[in-house]
This record gives sequence, C-alpha cells and structure tokens, in this order.
Amino acid sequence: MNRPELRPYQTQAISNLRASIASGVRRLILQAATGAGKTMTAAEIIRCCESKGKRTLFVCDSLELVEQALSAFDNYGLDVGVMQAQHIRTDESRLTQVCTAQTLDRRIKSQRYEFEQYPVHLICCDEAHVQHKVRDELAVLYPNAVILGLTATPFSKGLGTFYQTVVSAISMKQLISEGYLSTYRAFAPFVPDMKGVKQTAGDWTKDASAEVYDSQIIGDMVSHWKRHAHDRPTLAFGCNVAHSKAIAAEFASHGIAAAHVDGYGNDADKLERERTIERYKSGDIQLLSSVSMLTRGFDAPLTSCLIIARPTKSLSMHLQIVGRGLRTFAGKDDCVILDHAGNFVRHGFPEDITDFTLDLGVKGESKDKRDKGEKLPVPCPSCQTLKTSHKCPACGFAPEKQNEIVNVDGELVELSKVEAAKPKQFTKEQKQQFYSELLTYAEKRGYKHGWAANTYRKRFEVWPVGLVEEKRQVSETTDKYCTSLMIRYAKGKGKAEANAA
Ligand SMILES: [Zn+2]
Repeated sequence: MNRPELRPYQTQAISNLRASIASGVRRLILQAATGAGKTMTAAEIIRCCESKGKRTLFVCDSLELVEQALSAFDNYGLDVGVMQAQHIRTDESRLTQVCTAQTLDRRIKSQRYEFEQYPVHLICCDEAHVQHKVRDELAVLYPNAVILGLTATPFSKGLGTFYQTVVSAISMKQLISEGYLSTYRAFAPFVPDMKGVKQTAGDWTKDASAEVYDSQIIGDMVSHWKRHAHDRPTLAFGCNVAHSKAIAAEFASHGIAAAHVDGYGNDADKLERERTIERYKSGDIQLLSSVSMLTRGFDAPLTSCLIIARPTKSLSMHLQIVGRGLRTFAGKDDCVILDHAGNFVRHGFPEDITDFTLDLGVKGESKDKRDKGEKLPVPCPSCQTLKTSHKCPACGFAPEKQNEIVNVDGELVELSKVEAAKPKQFTKEQKQQFYSELLTYAEKRGYKHGWAANTYRKRFEVWPVGLVEEKRQVSETTDKYCTSLMIRYAKGKGKAEANAA
C-alpha cells in the first residue's frame, strides 16, 4: 500500500499533538484551514493507534462526511468499519469505526452501543466547532481516551470548557504562500445594510437576510461577475432556497449554465443534488448557487470564483465560505471572490485571523481574532477591490482624507437640518442620480478624480459602490449642496489656518 505522503507541517503538527498528550493533556483541538488536510493528519494518528492494536472512534457531523472520511481512510490503508444501520461497510471487528454523531447518540441512549466490548483509545470529533452532546457522553464512557477535535474554526462558545488546548497546524498565510491554497482577489461590489435585520441565535435569520437582496441587486451580481469572472467555475452562496434559486435563475436568464443545490430533503433529493454537483464538476454547469451546503462536505476544488450573498455575523461561517474557493486545482491561477454580503468588511481577510485560543464560555464581547496589525478591509471606491491600505493596490486610487472638512458652523447646522428632514431611505436610482451629477460637477470645476466619491460618501456615509461612472446634468439642488459644502470647507480651512497662525 502506497500511503499518501504527509506534508511537513502535518508531520510537525502530529509531533506537537504527541508532546501535548505526553504532558498529560487528554482533550485537544487540531486547528487547520479548510484544505490543509486535517483528515489526512488524523489518518496518520489513527494509523499509529492501529499499529498498536488500539481502537479509534471517528465521529462525523453528517452522513456525507462519513463517506468522505471513509474514502480518505481507505486511501490511507486504515482498518475501517462504518457504524451505521444497513451500511455496506458495517464491521465491528475493525479497529477504526466511523459514524455520525447522531447515530452514536441514538445508540448510546437506547443502550445499543456496547462500549465495554470495544475499549476506545482515541476519539476524533470531526468539525469540532459543532458541539454534539455525544462528545460529552463519550468522555464519560471512555474517561481515559484521548479526544481530538478537528476544525478550521475553533471559535464556538464554550469550546474551551471541554478542550484543554489547541494545536494550530499552519497559518492560512503560509498555506497560501507555500502554494497549498490558492491566492485570491476579493471585491465588495455591494455591502448590504443589515441594520435592524431580524436575528436569531446571534446571526441574521436566513429569510430576513434574503429580503436585503432585491431583484436589482441580484441583477448586479451578474454584471460584476461578467466583469471579473465570466470564464470561471463559480459557486454562489445564497441566504435561503428561494434566494439561491433566484440567483441561479438570474444567471440562467443571461445565458449562463446555472443551477441550484441545497442541503435539505430526502434521499431522492440527495441523489439529485449529487447529480447536479457532478455536472458542475464536469463543467456542464458553470454557476452553482447553494444554500446550507457547508456542512455537507461538498468539495469542488475547480471553483475559481465565489459569489457571496449570505451575510453572516459568524466568523466561522465566513471562513468556511471563503475556504470553498481556495482549494488548488490544475490550471487554476487564483480565486475571484465577489462579496455581496459585507462579510469581508465585517470579519476581515481570512489569513489575518490568527488567534485560535478557545472560548471559555465567559459572557461578554467576543474577542477580536484578527492579527493585531491588520485593519478591516474596505472596498476601493473606484474598483471595489477589498483593501486595508489607503491607496488601492489594484488600481492606485487613493481617496481624499475624510477629515478635510473641519468645523461645523451656523450655516451648516441649517444644511444638516434640511438633510434630516429628507426621507432617510434613498433608492439606488436617486443615489445614482446624485453621484452622476457630482461627476459632472467635478469635471466642470476640474476637481481631481475621487472628489465625487468623497462628496457622495459625506452625504450617504458609504462609498458609491455598485454605481456606474455616468455623468448627468447637475440639478439646482445638487449645485447648491455642493456650493454650501465648498463654503463649509473654505470656512473650516480658514479657521484651521487662523488657529495655526
Ligand atoms: Zn481600486
């Protein structure tokens, strides 16, 4: 048997885990990004157990993940059986047993699990950020076993009240720089306003999030995709089934081979889903729009564009979505990420997440997991590339510093009163109109590139992201608005100079 060779960092991670276990630690997390080969690393640890005649229980989060683990372990030459009713691979004599948390939980509860007969030395909890009750039950049944949790995102509340330590295999920055993961370019053509959107369990509800996306925004997804990624196999993430279907339909209406899949339904639905995924992998379908597929072990490394239309407050979900685009694949140079969900603006670049210390379940603010030196990215007003620098590394555009407007005086208070009296909600067309007028105003007066975007932002507090660079005739209202801004600016500047003098 030719076992796949381990990567250097995987071997290192195993010896770090061993050192921890040797020092008496029994419950550990192995953290590594999606694509770093956690299952392979676990396979080597399990192989060592098998070679000493010791038994392992590998607990998965779903049936699909059981199949995935099974094929990886077969490939690695392990002695595997599956603990699952009517599974072709059921064989209790095998040293390594793979099962779902749900099956195991049912069997333990109904006392159909004969744990005394099968002393287990190692318990692996796959996707350990999902904290199944069976984990705690197993810890009671096998008080001397080593419990190894595998996850890319050990951020769940209270994870540190069970596990004692985390071993991080390799940073995402390193995975990318060493070529194990793909590089990527991220754009934020649209950042939804999630203020007031209904929440449950700390995240926006799927249905309420879907309502943020009207048909125009979904239509814009196609034009942004055409500009940046028209030739790429693309995976889209929607909020709910209707939303994901609407995205697929919009692309289909532009002649793009598009389909929808979701993680719901019965066995027949599952079969249909697998067929659709196969068609995507074979290139028959170019855009696959999905919902609730993250826990299904769905893996399509050829994906070189992600369309994110699922706003989330969960850092874990953000990282898992992005991870779906960063697998390497023959002929794939990089991944284009079109974030229409504000997830990058909210959580940052995945490779800047460096703090994997476990949550101890103490109430309060969740800690910032980002690299201390890294800021949250913002979209470049000119090309929408997500950036943390002032000057855009992609197009070179540098917005005017915002604080050039200094003090507010009497006249201005009046102006803001007028503004306050206006309705708070503007349609995209109204915003486009205003921006287009600003472009003309700037051109007439010879202002530098970026003035219009800055002025737009002063009024709407966001950059004119998603608007087109189209000039329109300046209305009297906008002309007055700009003039009063100029007066405000001049007065502020005068004051500042007077103060300096
Ligand atoms: Zn730019």
